[in-house]
Amino acid sequence: MTRVETSCELDATLADMKSSTDPAGWIESAALEQPKRPFLRTPDGRELSYAALLEHSSRYAAALMSRGVVCGDRVAVQVDKSAEAVLLYVACLRLGAVFVPINVANTPNEVDFFLRDSRPRIAVIRPADRAILEPSAARAGVGHVETLGEDGAGSLIDLVRRSQAAGTPWGHVDAKAPAAIVYTSGTTGRSKGAVLLHANLGSNAAALVEAWHFTSDDVLLHTLPLFHIHGLFAAINTVLAAGACLVLLPKFDAASVLKCLPQATVYMGVPTHYTRLLRSPELNREVSAGVRLFVSGSAPLLSETHHEFLRRTGHAILERYGMTETLINTSNPYDGARKPGSVGMPLPGIRIRLAHDASTADAGAGRREDAMGVLEVTGPNVFAGYWQDPEKTQREFTADGWFKTGDIGRIDDDGYIYIVGRAKDLVISGGFNVYPKEVESELDALSGVLESAVFGVPHPDFGEGVTAVVVPEPAAVLSEADIISSMQERLARYKVPKRILLIDELPRNTMGKVQKNVLRAAYASLYDAKGVIRQ
Ligand code: AMP
Repeated sequence: MTRVETSCELDATLADMKSSTDPAGWIESAALEQPKRPFLRTPDGRELSYAALLEHSSRYAAALMSRGVVCGDRVAVQVDKSAEAVLLYVACLRLGAVFVPINVANTPNEVDFFLRDSRPRIAVIRPADRAILEPSAARAGVGHVETLGEDGAGSLIDLVRRSQAAGTPWGHVDAKAPAAIVYTSGTTGRSKGAVLLHANLGSNAAALVEAWHFTSDDVLLHTLPLFHIHGLFAAINTVLAAGACLVLLPKFDAASVLKCLPQATVYMGVPTHYTRLLRSPELNREVSAGVRLFVSGSAPLLSETHHEFLRRTGHAILERYGMTETLINTSNPYDGARKPGSVGMPLPGIRIRLAHDASTADAGAGRREDAMGVLEVTGPNVFAGYWQDPEKTQREFTADGWFKTGDIGRIDDDGYIYIVGRAKDLVISGGFNVYPKEVESELDALSGVLESAVFGVPHPDFGEGVTAVVVPEPAAVLSEADIISSMQERLARYKVPKRILLIDELPRNTMGKVQKNVLRAAYASLYDAKGVIRQ
């Protein structure tokens, strides 16, 4: 199955561009209708209006065109967060160039793979990486390498300054054309490039505007990275679709967020942002009084975090669920109960179902987990497929065209969805299915436990041994034997971890996701004859 097409049409009318799910059209409309409205502010007092966004992004597009970039060409970007990086993204959207964001944490070796795989016309990288990445780019046949620093300087900016944007010498970008290739975080196996179409980005932002009641009066405090769908699409596209404003911080730090919060009406973060904000005594009702919505996603938000944030600020964090391949799928309601621990219901236009199969039914345990299954999604948000990998694309879709998320979930009687874990993280011990989330919830409920992660590693007797790492609360005294005996009182025997290791911190990626692959690798030999722990 190849579901990836490229197409750009010339001579579109402005009316076409104004369609409500056309990202490039939003910018044109906002700039025409409210040219002076601010689009982006930085803490150092810089402000860019929608008219300036139109003008600057046209010049960035002209700069890209001067390097031979045309509609459908990939533009690989590994740069620090800046207003200029946002302009580069917007220029690609308008030009129909395919934006390929690369995590700034990726090593030159990984970037080498992304360049060979996506074969971009141009790569924009940090100035300090030029010497090391230029040979990779040359080997991958990348025509041009330009630089962009966090201070907004670099060879790309020199090129932009020299480029004149004579109107918009490009045409209307077809909704079915690719807008971005985003490499998955690769917590299981090698990263794959998910091809997202303009229609995916446009429809998802329109759904979020509707679901979260965005208007042009909103100001979003933006602290997320620009290489992931959360910060790039859920945040920036929703702001563009509403003609709203961004306050762009280079990264998350609790002190800067608390300083800027009074300017904002919306905050989008990952769970770690909220736990860090809660550690600050300055988080209170006054500082958050002007905010109408706090959103969390990309990783599970603990119910305790939800309750504690509500107690301190009076705000019920709205949790939503998404992934690279589908953008945002579900959200707790804006009006109505936001249930802690749940990711809410499908967004407008999106459908979700549970697929039950042998790997999600808890056979033999005396209790069938009928309500659990792998979540499958269909809707205008679902990506076109994996870049140049039709076999993988076919494997990840059902025969009737639904995308298999790989997340195990359940749905309560009110229609709220709960993520129970990744199908690939399911532990099968002695033939019994163990859902890590269930064991983690019991561990987290123990006094003195800050957080935990449960995973399976090879076991000579059980196939996989249920294994846990536990982070104690500061000053708590915990022992492996005590925790195991508490678990024996709470859980069926086959679910009780065979070993519990006390550690200082869970390994997380930049989006706050616990890296179970890292844990599985670190403890792979735990149940070997010698029990040697490979670090
Ligand atoms: P990524 O493609 O890097 O955005 O990762 C997507 C994965 O993050 C999903 O498949 C889920 O496993 C997880 N995820 C995203 N949002 C949530 C959430 N609110 N609760 C639990 N897991 C989440």
